[in-house]
Formats: sequence, structure tokens, C-alpha cells
Amino acid sequence: MLNEKQQTTKITTASGRPYAENENSLSAGARGPLLLQDYILHEKMAHFNRERIPERVVHAKGTGAFGTFTVTHDITKYTKAKIFNKIGKQTKFLQRFSTVGGEKGSADTERDPRGFALKFYTEDGNWDLVGNNTPVFFIKDAKKFGDFIHTQKRDPRTNCKSPTMMWDFWSLNPESLHQVIILMSDRGTPYGYRHIDGFGSHTFSMINAANEVVYVKFHFKTQQGIKNFTNSEAVEMKGIDADFAQRDLVDAIDRKDFPKWDMKIQVMTIAQSKETSFNPFDVTKVWPHGDFPLIDVGVLELNQIPKNYFADVEQAAFAPAHIVDGIGYSPDKMLQGRLLSYPDAQRHRLGGNYEQIPVNRCPYMTANYQRDGQMNVNGNGEDAPNYFPNSFDDIYADSNYKEPVVMLDSNVADWYDRNGEGDNDHYSQPAALFNKVMTDYDRHNLVSNIVGAMSGIAGPKKDIIINRQLCHFFRMNMRLGNAVAKGLGVNVEQVMADMKGHA
Ligand code: NDP
Repeated sequence: MLNEKQQTTKITTASGRPYAENENSLSAGARGPLLLQDYILHEKMAHFNRERIPERVVHAKGTGAFGTFTVTHDITKYTKAKIFNKIGKQTKFLQRFSTVGGEKGSADTERDPRGFALKFYTEDGNWDLVGNNTPVFFIKDAKKFGDFIHTQKRDPRTNCKSPTMMWDFWSLNPESLHQVIILMSDRGTPYGYRHIDGFGSHTFSMINAANEVVYVKFHFKTQQGIKNFTNSEAVEMKGIDADFAQRDLVDAIDRKDFPKWDMKIQVMTIAQSKETSFNPFDVTKVWPHGDFPLIDVGVLELNQIPKNYFADVEQAAFAPAHIVDGIGYSPDKMLQGRLLSYPDAQRHRLGGNYEQIPVNRCPYMTANYQRDGQMNVNGNGEDAPNYFPNSFDDIYADSNYKEPVVMLDSNVADWYDRNGEGDNDHYSQPAALFNKVMTDYDRHNLVSNIVGAMSGIAGPKKDIIINRQLCHFFRMNMRLGNAVAKGLGVNVEQVMADMKGHA
């Protein structure tokens, strides 16, 4: 008799019944109708009908690989996380790259941020860092997320993507300007996934062995170098190979050209966090490198394409809520929203027991009193107690993992127009990118990409939307505003007069 690890070579039903005919249905006569009793036909059709699970509502088109993370520098003065406790220590991880707005079949070279999601299988459980290839995001409060994403999807009537919806939303949400400038630069159309930087994007915290807390940002610098498509190259590639980034990653790993990223952190003390001119917990802002230099941590190397895409990439469930001892959250309002929404999305997509799926399992058997639910496949705790506390097992809550106390000094409110000065400055940081970081070539392409994208704005509100967005560009940098207005054939004097009227 075969055991559960041995595969029979006879074709079988899912319940293991070997059968003789896999291509011709049972029929009444050679040309007759089919029989209801052909269970093998039913099972084949019924399972096929159930092959698709809900597509991720964002980041649907993705690519994944396994890899090895190696610590190269000592950061134990900031964190007691065991993954970082020794130079040379190696930890297996899974990475998923993705576009954001498109459906599962959409083209890899669309102008879009790229997801940069990591799952480290550590000795203290799985740590997920679920970021993007951009250090910032379009909005700073999770309450806006659903509205924002609707503008990146399809128009309810035409069922087409709509530049009008996108620019309407962006022009009404000036906090999006920073990310819009990055998206409209050539970094919005990267050359596959190997040539992008990655960011944890949110502010997180680190806790050391003495239970001292600092705030951190995570950065991943590509060792392959930044490489982008121009807009016209990206558009052309859509027609040549819609799966360009997927193929590029698989090909590189298959030829053993393993892509690598340097992990770095920026560190801010709690005292410093109270003194910055910007809100360090606002995901539309960066921490300037000059004030908060990058600190080396280690190297990510991707070296294994999963044998089965659906099993290990489609079913991979990342959630920023999954942290480990030594790493903590921060008051970042987008992060706080994602702590709820990601595990919730995975429960919807994969079921309440999604962490029992092999790719999502932590390296050891977990211990808790969660039981039952659909697709419970790990033995369900067998005959062990299913409540806590109890007098029968030896599972305990280990006080060594107690988190430090967080002191609050605020009143409860929706704080938007009660913020301190600087919290609503949406212009200085994108201006620094445009003035100080970009080359003339970058600025030229930025303008032509914006003009191309805004040329799609249509309908009765077209002029209002264009002028409102131009005002943001002018406030950020006059040169940029003028160049975009000229490209769109807009009368600048009229826009300036409107701006004064609204000042
Ligand atoms: P620095 O000059 O120290 O760093 C500039 C950063 O900008 C580098 O990380 C560079 O990445 C990146 N960069 C270059 N071109 C683009 C682009 N088109 N889109 C996005 N990023 C780009 O500057 P500061 O730290 O003082 O920040 C100045 C501005 O740079 C910020 O306002 C922000 O817009 C942008 N930036 C800042 C980051 C930060 O964490 N401080 C991170 C990324 C961008 P690379 O080294 O890979 O070329």
C-alpha cells in the first residue's frame, strides 16, 4: 500500500479511485447524450470551474521568488529581532513584486508603482514587510484608500481606465503630489523588477534588548542599478510581451544571475520625531537622507523560482500586521489602516485558515487555541485543549515578549485641519526631488509623461481638473507648471489669475 508521500502513477479521482478513461465521456450510444453517472466528467468540470480564487483587489498582477537574506552589519543596538542578531546569519524569504492598479492579466510595463512585498521565515515567526518601489504613497490616511483605488480602476460606465478620474482625485488631494511626481517620472515604468529600489514605505519601530524604542524606515537598494523604460518603450513593450517583468525575473534566476538588494535603515529617535518640520508618520513624506543617513543592514538575494506559481505566489498572503519581536508599528495612519485591511483581505481571498497554506506557514508549529473553520488542514489541534487557560497543556504566554509601553499625549479627533504647521506642506519634498535630485533628462521626460497622461482628461469638468492640477505644479515649481501648461496648450495667465482668486 502506498503512503501519503508516495504518488501512484495510475490516473485517479481526487478521492484516489484509479480509472481507465480520461478523455471520452460515458454516452448512450456512440453519438448519444451523456450519462449523469459519469462522476469523473463531473469532477473534472466542477474542479475546473473552481480554479480561480478572488483576484487581489490591488496588486493583482504579480511575480514571486524565494531567496536568502544575509546580515552584513550589526544593528542589535536598535533591535532584538532574532533575524538580525548575528552578522552572517541567513534567513529564507519569499518576495512578491506586482503592479498595483491592473488586473491579473494586465501588462507588466504599465505606468504604476510596483509592489515590493517580503515574507521572512524567522525563528520568531513570519515577518512581512509589504512595501513598494516608492518611498511615499498617494494618500496619508487609510480612510481615503477605497476612493483612491476606484480612480485607478475602470470607469463604471465605459469600463475603461479613466485619466479624468485619476487627475480629478489627485488634483483634489494635494498630498498625492509627491507620489504623482515619482509615478510620472521614468521610475513609473521600470525595466522589470530587478532594477527597482524597494521601500518599507511606512515608518516602523525597532525595540532593542533593553526595550528602548526607535523609529525606522526600511530601504532596499538594487545592486542591478536603476533602469527604466521611457514612456514610448513601455507602451511598445506592452504589445511585444505583456509579461516582460515576470519573464525577466524567471530568466535571470534560471541562468543563476541572482538579483540582489542591499537592505538599509534610517533611524529616528522618539525625541527627534517630535522635532522634525514634517510629520515622520506621514507616508507621503520621506526622511531626508542628509538628516537621517542610511545604515547598512544586509543583502537580499533571490535565488529560487517557486515550482508552482499558484501554490506559492497566488496563495502567498502578506500582511504588514505580521511583525516579530524587536520590530513594531508606528502611528502612521496608512499603516494603522493596513494592519486591519491586509489580513482581512487574505481571509476573504483564501479563507480564515490562510496561514495554514504551506507558503504562509511559519517555520515551526504554532501554538494557540484557534480551531475549526473552512479548510482546516493542520490537524486542528487534535485532542489538545481548545481553551486558555487550562490545566492540561504547557502552553504559556511568555513575558519575555512583552512590548514596551506607548505613551499617548493627544486628544481624539479627525486631525486634518488641526495639524501642526508643516503637516500639510505637500510641496517642499516633491520640489526637492525636482530641483535637487532629477537631471535635465529626468525633468524633460517627467514633463512629457505628465502632458501625455493629462491629455487623456476629458468631459465637462476637463478645464477645472487641469487647472486645479496645474496650480499644484506651479506651487511646487514654476518651471514645471509652465512646461506642463505649455504642453497642454493652456493659457498660463488665466491659471495664475484663478490661483490668486483661490489663495
Ligand atoms: P538624496 O539626494 O539624498 O536622495 C535622493 C533619492 O532620490 C535617492 O534615493 C534616489 O534614488 C532617489 N531618486 C532619484 N530619482 C528619483 C525619481 N525620479 N523618483 C524617485 N526617487 C528618485 O535626497 P533627500 O533624501 O534629501 O531627498 C530629496 C528627495 O528625493 C525627496 O524629497 C524625495 O522626493 C526623493 N527621495 C528621497 C528618499 C529618502 O528616503 N530620503 C528616497 C527616494 C527618493 P537612487 O539612489 O536609487 O538613485
